[in-house]
Amino acid sequence: MAYVITTGCAGVKDAACTEVCPVECIHDAGDQFVIDPGECINCGLCAVTCPVNAIFENSDLPAGHHASIAYNRHFFL
Ligand code: SF4
Ligand code: SF4
Repeated sequence: MAYVITTGCAGVKDAACTEVCPVECIHDAGDQFVIDPGECINCGLCAVTCPVNAIFENSDLPAGHHASIAYNRHFFL
């Protein structure tokens, strides 16, 4: 389980989530930020901080955003 950043981050990228993450597992992937699923401790702080509600627990992703799970994970492979 981990939190996932969806495409809603692109175009905003204010890095607010990176400032609250206690384990510093959020990184700039270029077009958007992404979360390292191996490091995320599921605290949820990033999700409540994001101004555009682009962050979700992977089990609670809105329809149409499931590709974001692989997008976040592949950045860290
Ligand atoms: S849920 Fe917590 S640990 Fe995971 S990325 Fe967000 S702030 Fe970091
Ligand atoms: S807080 Fe939201 S918009 Fe800002 S960098 Fe993080 S995911 Fe992107």
